[in-house]
Amino acid sequence: MNSERRLIEGIREKVEAGERLSFEDGLALEASNDLFALGSMANLVRERFNGNAGYYNVNTHINPTNVCVYTCDFCAFRADLGEDRAYVMDRDQIVERTRQASARGATELHIVGGLHNKLPFSYYVDVVRWIKETAPEIHIKAYTAVEIEFFRKISRKSVEQILRELIDAGLGSLPGGGAEIFHPEVREQICGAKASTEICLDVHRTAHRLGLHSNATMLYGHIDGPKHRIDHMVRLRELQDETGGFQTFIPLAFHPDNSQMAHIPKPSGVMDLKVMAISRLMLDNFPHIKAYWVMLGLKTAQVALSFGADDIDGTVVHEKIYHEAGAETPQEVTVAEIRRLIAEAGRNPIERDTLYHRVERDGGTGTWTSREHIDVPGLALAGTSGR
Ligand code: SF4
Repeated sequence: MNSERRLIEGIREKVEAGERLSFEDGLALEASNDLFALGSMANLVRERFNGNAGYYNVNTHINPTNVCVYTCDFCAFRADLGEDRAYVMDRDQIVERTRQASARGATELHIVGGLHNKLPFSYYVDVVRWIKETAPEIHIKAYTAVEIEFFRKISRKSVEQILRELIDAGLGSLPGGGAEIFHPEVREQICGAKASTEICLDVHRTAHRLGLHSNATMLYGHIDGPKHRIDHMVRLRELQDETGGFQTFIPLAFHPDNSQMAHIPKPSGVMDLKVMAISRLMLDNFPHIKAYWVMLGLKTAQVALSFGADDIDGTVVHEKIYHEAGAETPQEVTVAEIRRLIAEAGRNPIERDTLYHRVERDGGTGTWTSREHIDVPGLALAGTSGR
């Protein structure tokens, strides 16, 4: 047996025993080209935690503005103030979009956007309030840690005050965007101006302390390398050990088109599946790993359900951020299509709400009810950091 094989076999023994993988184990997984070995180990953990379930939700995205003070290299969504394509959604537009989402039976609105040069913090609170007043049944997952930090700067309030105001207006949880890559070697190059790693993690820490759940992401496949990705995962794992407030990790495949990094090719299918599998193996205290089909494509997302992922996100209407960057996926897929893709992958399609309760629908009226929480048996919520 060669040395790479021996290393991977050693890791397999740890995985089978439910032991935490170290930073070095993560690097060994990154160095391996044995995609099937990685996939089978990740699948073992995926099935240990989530059995045969393939989760999805019914959601809509709202990006209230594309005007942004920052100029992250990978971003094709942002616009300068005064540019032709710059927009800010007003109350009527937000309310209309919310009504449409409600009529379609959405259980979640996912809200992220640019960091506008002139809008006051009260606008972002109003967006949440307008939605809640229009459709109180819909869960509002809004504003990344980067946005929350920006609100802190423009409002001169603390992160805790900001989150409390948003919660009072109807905020239900935080999305995971804005994390990109935490390692300073990469972060400083691709998005050095926006919230630092420490600040991003601290926003999630505060949110968890206030009882909010959040997601976590990692933008991979640009100038990042193996050590940056493993470092990113270990930092998240450490925070999760502390708070237990993360629900889902979502590896986001880089899309180069129309960005300042358009010269860098998209990550390959092999890389997508490898990152998915390694995420499942390293993040042993995250209940869920999501294959976000908008960025991966429906076909890769479907295969990813056997490479560590247990969720493929939602039906997604009006997604702008990744489509501006060249995502060729449709703007939405139907529930029937999502269920078919999951079932064809050999998984049991289960609709969940944002906080992972089973959703039951009355086919006749289209109304829905959140049922019991989906527990994840065997999840390690405490452990050594492994660094
Ligand atoms: S990624 Fe977000 S913060 Fe960066 S430029 Fe784009 S909209 Fe602005």
